[in-house]
Amino acid sequence: MQSGNIGVKTENIFPVIKKFLYSDQEIFLRELISNAVDATQKLKTLASSGAFTGELGDLTIKVEVDKKKKTLTVRDRGIGMSAEEVDRYINQIAFSGAEEFINKFKTQSEAEAANIIGHFGLGFYSAFMVSSKVALISKSCNETGGNGVIWECDGSPEYTMNEIPKGDRGTDIILYIGEDAEEYLEEDRIHTLLEKYCKFLPIPIQFGTKKVQEPIEEPVEDAEIVGEENDKKEDKKPKTKEVEKPWIINEVAPLWKKTPSDIKDEEYDDFYHVLYPMNFGQPLFHIHLNVDYPFNLTGILYFPKVKNRYELQRNKIQLYCNEVFVTDSVEGILPEFLSLLHGVIDSPDIPLNVSRSFLQSDQSVKKISTYITKKVAEKLEELFKKDRETYEKNWDDIKIFIEYGMISDPKFFERAEKFFLFKDSEGNFHTIEEYKNLIAPTQTNKDDMLVYLYATDADDQYSNIENAKARGYKVLMMDGLLDSHFISNFEQKKEHSLFARVDSNTIDKLIVKKDDQEPGSKLDDKQKESLKAAFEKVIDKLRFNVEFSNEAEGGSPVEVTQNEWMRRMKDMEAMGGSPMSFYGSMPDSYTLILNTNHPVISGLLEKEETEQEAAIRQIYDLALLSKNLLKGKELSEFVKRNMEQL
Ligand code: ADP
Repeated sequence: MQSGNIGVKTENIFPVIKKFLYSDQEIFLRELISNAVDATQKLKTLASSGAFTGELGDLTIKVEVDKKKKTLTVRDRGIGMSAEEVDRYINQIAFSGAEEFINKFKTQSEAEAANIIGHFGLGFYSAFMVSSKVALISKSCNETGGNGVIWECDGSPEYTMNEIPKGDRGTDIILYIGEDAEEYLEEDRIHTLLEKYCKFLPIPIQFGTKKVQEPIEEPVEDAEIVGEENDKKEDKKPKTKEVEKPWIINEVAPLWKKTPSDIKDEEYDDFYHVLYPMNFGQPLFHIHLNVDYPFNLTGILYFPKVKNRYELQRNKIQLYCNEVFVTDSVEGILPEFLSLLHGVIDSPDIPLNVSRSFLQSDQSVKKISTYITKKVAEKLEELFKKDRETYEKNWDDIKIFIEYGMISDPKFFERAEKFFLFKDSEGNFHTIEEYKNLIAPTQTNKDDMLVYLYATDADDQYSNIENAKARGYKVLMMDGLLDSHFISNFEQKKEHSLFARVDSNTIDKLIVKKDDQEPGSKLDDKQKESLKAAFEKVIDKLRFNVEFSNEAEGGSPVEVTQNEWMRRMKDMEAMGGSPMSFYGSMPDSYTLILNTNHPVISGLLEKEETEQEAAIRQIYDLALLSKNLLKGKELSEFVKRNMEQL
């Protein structure tokens, strides 16, 4: 019998561990199982190198709950430990991790401490978070006798060690679950935890049993049964019986560890559904990451199909460290725009046992983040080049991720210039370069700016789109969630570019070219004044103001335009992320532009007052109607009034 103090200077560490680990208590199981997996892997390595020549047998790691005894046991048949090894690894070394935590925690706020410890490799000692006593029974794989060692500790720095009969090699960790942690005696709870943390571990983990239907093998009777009888036989469902089988948690091999060229597309899709059993549909495509220099990282990222902004979810990527689930909060490890993707990342090189703020400034994390971003860009470029047709088909769904990346990461913007696509109002796609070349001859204005005309709603802006097309202009569809942000960002980054929505001005003013002459007006200033006053009596002055243009006679008598800049600010604000929260509270404002050269407008001056007012109301309502702005009472009155004319 040996007893002593575990190598710790702190009086009693366990109350502190318990208190701060409370929120992340459940990780004890992950820690114990990783140890068991490690021990099993080590044995396999020894066996393959010839250093261990005994039988390997069944290496399944078993998790057992005994409700009566209130114990939870993790049992492995791995390398095991001799008494000296327990002394060295458990009494001395293992505790240094915990002690290090305590020292760190002294300098941190409580919140920070909880954050640290959640990812701190407390390893074996995390068992004390849920236990009033822990027993470790082990027998080294080199031990040939019938005995092993039992180590016990009740949460004080004192432990005892004794010899104990043990037939099989390996380690049993027995947790005497504490009163405040009895949830860990519930099978369902343990199941959920195992599913969460151990689904992809390389050694089978068994917990409890599972009822499965198994076909009953009927003896093949008479082989000569033919005809009718035979058909009947085929109709019959094979007989099954229910049998209890050991429940292995981790049936799925971690796909990301395999060589990409060996994996079929269906396997990637299947794996996606294993990761997210009920949540998402089919992914659009995936990116398999596989690198071993200058750091080690594997993983698969999926571009999810997102139908609307509410489906955009952060933190769906699962982070693993050597196949052990660690967290799904990838903040600080991945750039924000990639955190909207799905999938897994596995790296032993991400220091998970430190605080988030440290992570963000850590150099190797930065490198990993940069690398992943580069990889994603390369893959997108490859997809685009290899199969442009499919890429275009997926464009509407992936655009949001790419735009987000371009807006938030200048490096990614540069890379994405090769595979970002503009979609025009006819549904054709162009790269930035292609589009520039296409519109340069017709859409360069007098200030040498390239004017990108765009629409955000093909129906609402239908007449404006048609007007622009009639002039030989191209119109882009910019109806995505992030488009207003993207447009502003694009203008900043690409010199000589200017975006204008098709209804932000009259067609003549949208692109004023060098040799454009302003046509003269048929109306003088006084006439304009009187018309303006007459319109102002009818229109909603909070939302509309009146201006004049001298368009050609054939154009429309009146246009409704909306100032590009104001509208964009409002759009951006609605999306969130605009620094000014000022525009949101203001009503949408429009300009009613009267074409002074149009007979309908000049004709108004010849009408007497009531007739003029009625005509103005009609013009105004029609203008609103054409922009889908006539609603509610106004719309109903308009319809009634016009019906009466029939
Ligand atoms: P870590 O796993 O990070 O080294 P732990 O505190 O979890 O720290 O474990 C300390 C050491 O105890 C391990 O490195 C290993 O040598 C030994 N150990 C723990 N669990 C087992 C086990 N199930 N089988 C064999 N050795 C183990």
